Amino acid sequence: MTPLLITVGTALVYLASFETLALSQEAETIYSRCLVCMVLFTVTRLAVTLRNSGRLFVRLSEAHARAEAMADELRRGEARFRAIFDRAPIGIQIADMEGYLVDANKAAERMLGYDPGELQGRHWTEVTHPDNVAEEDRLDELLLARDIEQYEIEERQIRKDGSLIWTQQTVTEVWDQDGQAQFGIALVEDVTEHKAMIQELQEREASFRLLFADNPHPMWVYDIATLSFCEVNDTAVRLYGYSREEFLAMRITDIRPAQWIPDMMRGVAMHRVQSSTCSHTQHRLKDGSVIDVEVATHSLHFAGRDAVLVLAQNITERKNFENQLKHQALHDPLTGLPNRTLLNDRLEQVILAARRNATSLALLLMDLDGFKDVNDTFGHHHGDLLLEQVGLRLCRVLQASDTVARLGGDEFAIILPATDEVGSTQAVRRIIASFKEQFVVESRSLHVDASVGIALYPSHGDDASTLLRRADVAMYVAKRAGDDRRYAVYTAEQDLHTPEKLALIGELRQAIEEEHLFLQYQPKVDLRTGATSHVEALVRWRHARRGMIPPDQFVCLAEETGMIKSLTLCVLGQALQQCQRWGRAGFNISVAVNLSARNLRDPQLPSLVMDLLQHHDVPATSLGIEITESTLMGDPAQAMLVLTELHDMGVRIAIDDFGTGYSSLAYLRRLPVDEIKIDRSFVMEMASDENDATIVQSVIDLGHNLDLQVVAEGVENQASLEMLATCGCDQVQGYYLARPMAAADLEGWLALDRVAATA
Ligand code: C2E
Ligand code: CA
Ligand code: CA
Repeated sequence: MTPLLITVGTALVYLASFETLALSQEAETIYSRCLVCMVLFTVTRLAVTLRNSGRLFVRLSEAHARAEAMADELRRGEARFRAIFDRAPIGIQIADMEGYLVDANKAAERMLGYDPGELQGRHWTEVTHPDNVAEEDRLDELLLARDIEQYEIEERQIRKDGSLIWTQQTVTEVWDQDGQAQFGIALVEDVTEHKAMIQELQEREASFRLLFADNPHPMWVYDIATLSFCEVNDTAVRLYGYSREEFLAMRITDIRPAQWIPDMMRGVAMHRVQSSTCSHTQHRLKDGSVIDVEVATHSLHFAGRDAVLVLAQNITERKNFENQLKHQALHDPLTGLPNRTLLNDRLEQVILAARRNATSLALLLMDLDGFKDVNDTFGHHHGDLLLEQVGLRLCRVLQASDTVARLGGDEFAIILPATDEVGSTQAVRRIIASFKEQFVVESRSLHVDASVGIALYPSHGDDASTLLRRADVAMYVAKRAGDDRRYAVYTAEQDLHTPEKLALIGELRQAIEEEHLFLQYQPKVDLRTGATSHVEALVRWRHARRGMIPPDQFVCLAEETGMIKSLTLCVLGQALQQCQRWGRAGFNISVAVNLSARNLRDPQLPSLVMDLLQHHDVPATSLGIEITESTLMGDPAQAMLVLTELHDMGVRIAIDDFGTGYSSLAYLRRLPVDEIKIDRSFVMEMASDENDATIVQSVIDLGHNLDLQVVAEGVENQASLEMLATCGCDQVQGYYLARPMAAADLEGWLALDRVAATA
């Protein structure tokens, strides 16, 4: 535009001067031509300029459009950036060079508990834990000096409500083209939970170290599939004497004495069904010595394997101490031989074994003749030394499986397992012969003799106290005889002649006559219904001086002296009278009475029973009798007659103590029997003894095959009760359900039972 204006201006100036100058014609022409040329020039220039201006205009509008597009693009970019910025799951904080936050995304705001926009304008130190400020400052300096491009820091940030969170931050700086720092950007991640987890893991590891690695008891982990050790602690290494490497190359069987391996394998198998176990066992150390340990185990997964964690507590000292105490309690301090308590215990064990294996055994009681003289002449010291030597000599003459015990004073007892009369008399002769050799006590030769009484199981008694009593009677007889034999085998006749026995017989006779015997009743519970309709009558004797005497101790006396008939009639009379009372009180109870072998040999018994039934107005079906299996086997033909008669009357017949008498199946089939009672020795431990459980099951099956009711007596625990129910047993009797009790108590018990049944 400017050249155009100048040209127009210049032309106007010339036109004005042309008027005022009044030039010559030629000059005028020249001037006019010049003017024309100028005008043409100017017009041309104007045209050119105009054309150029049009192009410029076009260019200008293109540039404008481009700028608009760029601005649009920028706006879209900004929107995209904002969307990403705000929706980013990670916190982003942007701070200016003064350290003030100029922007923070939503995640950052949420993380610190601020409302939108509230973070802006706050200084970064306001949201940073003071402990972390110095470190961040130092790193910022490195960043600004461009020594590093970015840094990472784990630090605590302060939330709006003052609580702290742990964050993991990555911090970078944004630079402009001139290399000037613009702002710092921090990408912030909340790692509080992760941190807590790590801390928990660390704490767990610390506890594990404390519990396992630093445990004062030996511990290890073994692989349940290979039984090899996977890990052991230091205490195990120290105590067992193997290095860790040696341990890890071994299997757990390597530290068990051979006899414990079956037990251990059972323990391992238990882990498939039970996560924790506790047991006592023994371990062998590297030096070969054996220690007692109490082992607690727990199943776990270890390094991807099914494993067992074991804690072994070395209880060798405790065990030794216990053993010492036990030894003292069960042994005679002078001779070191078992004392009376241990003898009783062993005797019971041996009786049980003999009962199972249908063998006999002998119990010997020995007393020294002339011992009192030694004591009186040479003093107690010599007496004691002599007793020690007697003990040693007895052990020398007898076998290792025999038990030699000192009962006190100069009395010794000997158990000979699996021995009959012939075997026991041979052993006794050996003992007596050995006493021919003098004893030497402190270089003094002494002589004593021995008198021995022998009692045999089962012919003379089937429990420990009876055998002891009878061996004592036999010894008394041997002593009194004073002959060279010096021993006696028990016979019933001898028994009656001990002064004590004679007195007791008299008292029993009186007790029967004066009805000092009374009955207790023990319920038999139906396993299917839980109801009780049968009870067993058990006789008791309350002795004026001796207190309660159990039937085991006087029924045999009555049998030996012929008093059993009156005893049985007395019991039958009381039982039927009670039965009648119960009937009147509304209890439909049938009562079972125990009969002895002798009763079955009495052909009058059935008619006597009939009289009693009529007298008490009780139907025969409310009476039962129990006869032991061994009684039946004693005289089967006679027993059969009496039993058949009773059975025909309607009296219920049960075979008692079944399983101990080895009656033949064929015979059982012919007997008029309604019920068999499994002997309590099989029932009491059936829950823990597989053999017993098998016997019980077979007796139940046998009974059912013969159409008999099966009763289990001696049920002492819930486990046996449940097993019996599973085995299909019909009735149960035992301390677990009810002990024998007085008639009055039984009524209360039955009433309770009825309430429970209807509840
Ligand atoms: P039995 O006929 O086998 O009687 C069962 C015995 O086992 C009873 O002993 C009873 O108290 C006991 N008993 C019951 N439940 C359990 C239990 O759960 N565990 C254990 N360990 N024992 C249990 P009791 O009363 O001392 O009778 C012993 C034996 O005396 C009787 O054995 C029976 O043979 C005989 N007897 C009892 N009363 C008479 C009687 O009137 N006449 C005759 N001839 N013998 C009798
Ligand atoms: Ca019985
Ligand atoms: Ca029995």
